[in-house]
Amino acid sequence: MLFNVAGLLRGSVGATRNYEVEPVTVLDDGDRFEAVHGPVRMMRTDRGVLVEARFEATGADICSRCLTPVHTNIEVQVEEEYYPINPFPGAGIDYEHPEATGGLDDTVSLIDDRNEIDLTEVVRQALVAARPMAPLCRAECRGICPVCHADRNVRPCDHDDPDVDRSPMRRLAQEWRKVK
Ligand SMILES: [Zn+2]
Ligand SMILES: [Zn+2]
Repeated sequence: MLFNVAGLLRGSVGATRNYEVEPVTVLDDGDRFEAVHGPVRMMRTDRGVLVEARFEATGADICSRCLTPVHTNIEVQVEEEYYPINPFPGAGIDYEHPEATGGLDDTVSLIDDRNEIDLTEVVRQALVAARPMAPLCRAECRGICPVCHADRNVRPCDHDDPDVDRSPMRRLAQEWRKVK
């Protein structure tokens, strides 16, 4: 998700550009977000470029009860101001270089020396934060039997569930405690 903002930086404060991100896949460790897409608006500020975007994505996940693959719909809003790492002469940026002043900490987002903004990282972080903690294949998923390990959606069994919570992760945590 690279955007060249040289033109915008040469423009006056308040100038805007609108873009549309075509569906892309964003990966993060074990997470996978497909068809990430949406409108992006960039506005020239007195210090850099303000990015406002709204993305929709499909999260590839597994059901927290029965472990079958599920797809979740995720929507995120992104708002981030980017500062030129190297404001070119004539850009009229009212901004002093962070290395010269120590004025900006290392958490600021930077426009690189080719005048490009890479949105991938902020979008990735927003998607990870928005993904459901315990996705379900369906609201009434019966989960996996803790006794015989049958998928109760496919093959109901007669075992009583000693657990109110059928989450396999919870189950694993209990097994782990037993071992210790
Ligand atoms: Zn399920
Ligand atoms: Zn069973």
